[in-house]
Amino acid sequence: MNVAVLTEISSFAGLLEKLDYLSASDVESVRQAYRYADEAHLGQLRNSGAPYITHPIAVAAMCTTWKLDAHALMAALLHDAMEDCGITKTDLIERFGAPVAELVDGLTKLDKLEFSTREENQAESFRKMLLAMAKDVRVILIKLADRTHNMRTMSDMPRTKWGRISAETIDIYAPIAHRLGLNQTYRELQDLAFKHLQPWRYDILSKAVTKARSRRKDLIKTVRVQVEASFASLKMPVQIFGREKSLYSIYKKMDGKHLSFAQVTDIYGFRLVVPTTIDCYTAMGLMHQMFKPVPGKFKDYIAIPKPNGYQSLHTTLIGPAGINIEFQLRTHAMDMVAESGVAAHWLYKADENDAPSTERMNAKWLQSLLDIHDETRDATEFFEHVKIDLFPDDVYVFTPKNKIITLPRGATVIDFAYAIHTNMGDRATAAKINGLPVPLRTEVKNGDIIEVTAGSTNNPNPAWLNFVKTARARSKIRHHLKSMALTESVDLGEKLLSLAIRAEGVVALPAHNTSNQAIWDKLLRFTGNRDVAELMSDIALGKRIASIVAKRLAKLLVDSGKKLDTLLITRERFLATDKVAASSIILDGSESASVQYASCCRPVPGDAILGYLGRGEGLAVHVSDCNTVQRLQKKDAERFIPVEWSDEPVRNFEVGVLITVVNGKGVLAKVSVALANAEVDISHVDMGKELAQEAIDLRFILSVRDKAHLEEALNKVRRTDSVISATRIIPTRTSN
Ligand code: MN
Repeated sequence: MNVAVLTEISSFAGLLEKLDYLSASDVESVRQAYRYADEAHLGQLRNSGAPYITHPIAVAAMCTTWKLDAHALMAALLHDAMEDCGITKTDLIERFGAPVAELVDGLTKLDKLEFSTREENQAESFRKMLLAMAKDVRVILIKLADRTHNMRTMSDMPRTKWGRISAETIDIYAPIAHRLGLNQTYRELQDLAFKHLQPWRYDILSKAVTKARSRRKDLIKTVRVQVEASFASLKMPVQIFGREKSLYSIYKKMDGKHLSFAQVTDIYGFRLVVPTTIDCYTAMGLMHQMFKPVPGKFKDYIAIPKPNGYQSLHTTLIGPAGINIEFQLRTHAMDMVAESGVAAHWLYKADENDAPSTERMNAKWLQSLLDIHDETRDATEFFEHVKIDLFPDDVYVFTPKNKIITLPRGATVIDFAYAIHTNMGDRATAAKINGLPVPLRTEVKNGDIIEVTAGSTNNPNPAWLNFVKTARARSKIRHHLKSMALTESVDLGEKLLSLAIRAEGVVALPAHNTSNQAIWDKLLRFTGNRDVAELMSDIALGKRIASIVAKRLAKLLVDSGKKLDTLLITRERFLATDKVAASSIILDGSESASVQYASCCRPVPGDAILGYLGRGEGLAVHVSDCNTVQRLQKKDAERFIPVEWSDEPVRNFEVGVLITVVNGKGVLAKVSVALANAEVDISHVDMGKELAQEAIDLRFILSVRDKAHLEEALNKVRRTDSVISATRIIPTRTSN
């Protein structure tokens, strides 16, 4: 295989000759694109000194060998216009329509991607390519043509750039060409990169191959003549192509297996193209009768195609003079796929008779993407995952181990965690996207790499229900909360009843054992509950009032002969405020369904708080001077119970904050930065509707550790430029 076997096309006239497969109006569109690009690049020169437009023309010409459609050819001609000539996407949409503009835009964006060629980041580079590719494979084809032309003209470039560009070509572009089945491009890219990476070795090897070729010329000719004769006797039409390994693949083989050039035996080969699949097998038999096959070298890629869609029969035969010769046998259709891979789709379009369905071709290139992503993964699974074109409502994100997870658009980190495993979701405590810490409610985007930290206990937060998108996450959270709610409310009810009964002069609840069975049974008859657990849960949910149940229980105990502790009664009833620590409920944020932090005042650790036992709603925790508390205390004082913060809350708490700012560009960003600096997460922001005004109110819900943390954050925000004021939102009597 020689480098630069194709004659370069550098004029539009030359390109025109290749457009015979397009309609007259398509040719006219391509001409328009050429004129526009020509004008845009006017005065710009390539490194060789040639006018710049020769490059886009060459790229478009390469695309014609794959018979790409008019839109793709137009995009090829315009591919550097946005980057180099200050032309905008809008200009292109107006001039050539959205499809062409999208392709050019895709190419421009692809150019901006930083491809790392270091081993550990290859997966990352592939991922970027994959996502670009999944949108429209034509973008990648044009990009490969662009890269091929740049490699062909690399000698004009400064030598200092050869290494980086060649390494990138070998590491990224050549494998992609290979996986897409563009074998010719694959070999050419590798050889060109090899030539510029190791000019000296390339030179020596190239001379050795030339020498070997001339030495074996007679042999090759003999074999060809013999093959032709036997096919003629069989009356089977055949096309015979001599083929040679690419220099780079010979080099790799020598390097990898520590062989000398003379030891690399399978340099020569023939490709035989026959009419039908059955003919391939017949021809194979014929060849095996002519020359002795090398054992273990026969491969049936027709029955089992390669992941990139490649099909052929391979066999190595021992030719005259004991030289190994490799034969590949395939049909014309297989040959097209073998040489042009995914582009065979367009090649076939030009030749409708032999066209496989578009669907099958799509399946092929999707399957080849699979191969890029991970050699070992199951094809069907990946196939499910990369139909971005077909399912624009999905996003594709990655685990740290490069597994692709499909989620609906708008899905959050929590949805992702549940998609991986129920345990991962139930235990999620923190997350990183692309290496940066993010709140669990963060919406995920295409291509994000997401890492979730799981705690040691199951602890789904009911607040997650407000933002999860997937049914799976929703039902898993609900399921967990339901089972949690029961055990938790039983515990809470028990605590509440123990507190209440102290005020009746009983130090502790009677144990649930047989000697107390009669008392508990009587109590259950009084409350109408089936069992103690249900009673406790009812108390926790406010369906039964603890103090009333406690009074009855105390009476039952007295009736059974128990003496009340009168000192305790006095202490509990009249000195309650001094004994808060001994008798109140401790909150650390780990409670789920049975305790709600009121959304009117949003208490945080450090606030003075009160618990209100609503009817059937469980315990609501308010800031003591919240106006809801003031209102309820007038009519429902007995439903309030003492609560206090644990010294070590286990999570952050949400708090409402009003920030008034001078309206202007970027002001929200400035506030966000200040909050981020204070390590405060923004759970929600409401910008109001008066955007046109000079000063606007931003209402945030922030997630903070405690009151001190909040104060610190507010101070940071107040010092931010454009901020007029920043205050916590609590509906107190004074604020009404
Ligand atoms: Mn270019």
